[in-house]
Amino acid sequence: MIAEKSLQTPKLEAKNPYELRLDQGRDVPESAVHEALRTGDMGFLHSFTTGSTVDGPGVRVVGWTAGCQWRCLYCHNPDTWNMMNGIPVGLDRAVEELRKYRQGLKIMHGGFTLSGGEPLMQDRFAVKLLRACKEMGIHTAIETNGYLGSRLSDEELGTIDLVLLGIKTWDRDKHVRLTGKDIANTLGLARRLSARKTPVWIRFVLVPGLTDDEADIAQIAKFTAELGNVERVEVLPFHQMGRFKWERLGLDYTLNDVQPPSPESIERACDLFRAQGLQAF
Ligand code: SF4
Repeated sequence: MIAEKSLQTPKLEAKNPYELRLDQGRDVPESAVHEALRTGDMGFLHSFTTGSTVDGPGVRVVGWTAGCQWRCLYCHNPDTWNMMNGIPVGLDRAVEELRKYRQGLKIMHGGFTLSGGEPLMQDRFAVKLLRACKEMGIHTAIETNGYLGSRLSDEELGTIDLVLLGIKTWDRDKHVRLTGKDIANTLGLARRLSARKTPVWIRFVLVPGLTDDEADIAQIAKFTAELGNVERVEVLPFHQMGRFKWERLGLDYTLNDVQPPSPESIERACDLFRAQGLQAF
C-alpha cells in the first residue's frame, strides 16, 4: 500500500495551474513511484482547478498532472516536467474529489479534463481515473501532446470523449528544436483517433518567429482537415505568464524578447485553418 501524502500542504485545489509547485512528491520512495506507474492506483498531480470554460465543452474540472518528457521552449508550466513535483494522490481520493462535482458538471454541460504536464506519462492512472469518470456519467477529455498515445489500447481510448491534441509545428526538424522530440507519434495518435471518429480539438500555440510560418501552418491545417474528426482548432497566443517559473527553476529561458502575437497574426493563422473548412478560434 502506497502512503498518500497529506493533501493539506499545499491543497490539491489551485486557483490556476500557474501556481509554482515543487518537490511535492519528494518523500515517495522510488519503489512506490514504480508501483504507482505500474498500477495507476496513485497519480502525481500539480493540482485540480474548477470552473474552467476553455479546456473542453461546458464548465470543467481540470486535473493537471505532473511529468512531461517534452521540453517546449515556450512551456508555461515547466514545474510540471518533473513528476516528483506533483502531489501524490490516491486514485480513490481523486475519484471522490470528482464525485463531489458530478451533478454540477452535468448541469453545466461540462466534465473533467485531464491535462498536464503530459497525462500519458501516467497512463495507468489516467485510464483508471477517466474510466471512473465515465462510470459516474462525467464527460471526459484529455489534453495531450500525443507522444505516448500508443500506451492506450483502443478500448482505453474509448474512455475518452474528447482529445485536445497539441500540434506544435509541421516541420520535423523544427519540431525537435522546439520540443526536443519527433512529431511522428503525435500524428500517429491523430490518425488513430480519426479512424475511431473520436472528437478532437487541435491546439496550436502561435509563437512569433517560431511557429508563425504561414506555409507551415497551412500544412498543419491540411493534415487536420483531412482527419475528418476535428471539431475545432484553437490558436493559442504565446504569452509570458510562465517565465517566472523558468527563472525560479534556474532554466535557460530563450524567449525573453518574444512578444505575444498581434491580433492580426492570430487572425491570419485562424484563416489558414478556416481555408481548409475548419472552425478556428
Ligand atoms: S508538451 Fe506541454 S507540458 Fe510538455 S513541455 Fe510542451 S508545453 Fe510543456
